Amino acid sequence: RRAAAMERAHEEGRTSDGTRIEVFANLGKLSEAAPAVAGGAEGCGLLRTEFLFLDRQSAPDEDEQTAQYAAIADALEGRPLVIRLLDIGGDKPAPYLPIAPEENPAMGLRGLRVGLARPDVLATQLRAILRAAQGRPIKIMAPMVARVAELRELQGVAAAQAALLGVELPEIGVMVETPAAAVMADALAAQCAFLSIGTNDLTQYALAMDRGNPAVAAGLDGLDPSVLRLIAQTCAGGTRHGKWVGVCGGLASDPLTVPILIGLGVTELSAAPAMVAEIKALVRSVDVADCRSLAARVLEAEGAAQVRALAAEFIGGLA
Ligand code: PEP
Ligand code: MG
Repeated sequence: RRAAAMERAHEEGRTSDGTRIEVFANLGKLSEAAPAVAGGAEGCGLLRTEFLFLDRQSAPDEDEQTAQYAAIADALEGRPLVIRLLDIGGDKPAPYLPIAPEENPAMGLRGLRVGLARPDVLATQLRAILRAAQGRPIKIMAPMVARVAELRELQGVAAAQAALLGVELPEIGVMVETPAAAVMADALAAQCAFLSIGTNDLTQYALAMDRGNPAVAAGLDGLDPSVLRLIAQTCAGGTRHGKWVGVCGGLASDPLTVPILIGLGVTELSAAPAMVAEIKALVRSVDVADCRSLAARVLEAEGAAQVRALAAEFIGGLA
């Protein structure tokens, strides 16, 4: 099956009824880009820029960041690159960005909150992205957004930097990884270019189970109907304003979940590079109307186990 999937890995992601579903890869560094393209990735839906910032004594400067982002975009050979703004905080500490010890880092200073609290760091990263985006299909994505005001503040900083550089502002999208963002998806979608759901964090916040706490992490399941209802609400919010909704969290790499996500209205999946060909093969084998009826059924399930059973039955019935 893997060989068959690889053979058609470079075809566009499209369901059996012809609906376009973009299948992208998540990347953390330059060396992963070329193999992702070789594996069929149609672009990068999540570049985790924090890997450039961790395990070093000082932050990468504007020139170094510009060179990295440009090199990664170039390795994608014209395919889109969604660059996520720095997502570090209490749980992913960097020595040059001191954050006071927090009792509850998952709810503390992290993601875009760090950038808004440290405008120097945010401005430098934005300038680097804006420079790299000249002539390259780069988009900006903000992590850990909980309120429309945070998006507006980011847009203000980004617009100011673009004006200083005399360049156009690339599209800015929002990661939906807090329940607040999912519930407010329509208000966010009204103000930004796209939404991309971070199901890893969305699951931990929906279930109030810390991803990093071994006492509860085993109980985390992104197929919990509570999470799926938040995804449904996000898709409805995006659709209302004509904005695309993607998934860049772990659910996009799980074949069991893909028909549900498509049925809920997701049109972009950003998966682990090694899973791209298999996810594309699965996309080719499903019909959107069937996915919608599956999605309607799983939204009524009482728990993740029932969702998994329905999804497995659906996949078992595919040609
Ligand atoms: C997520 O939360 O689903 C996500 C993609 O971000 P990260 O796993 O890097 O927190
Ligand atoms: Mg996250």
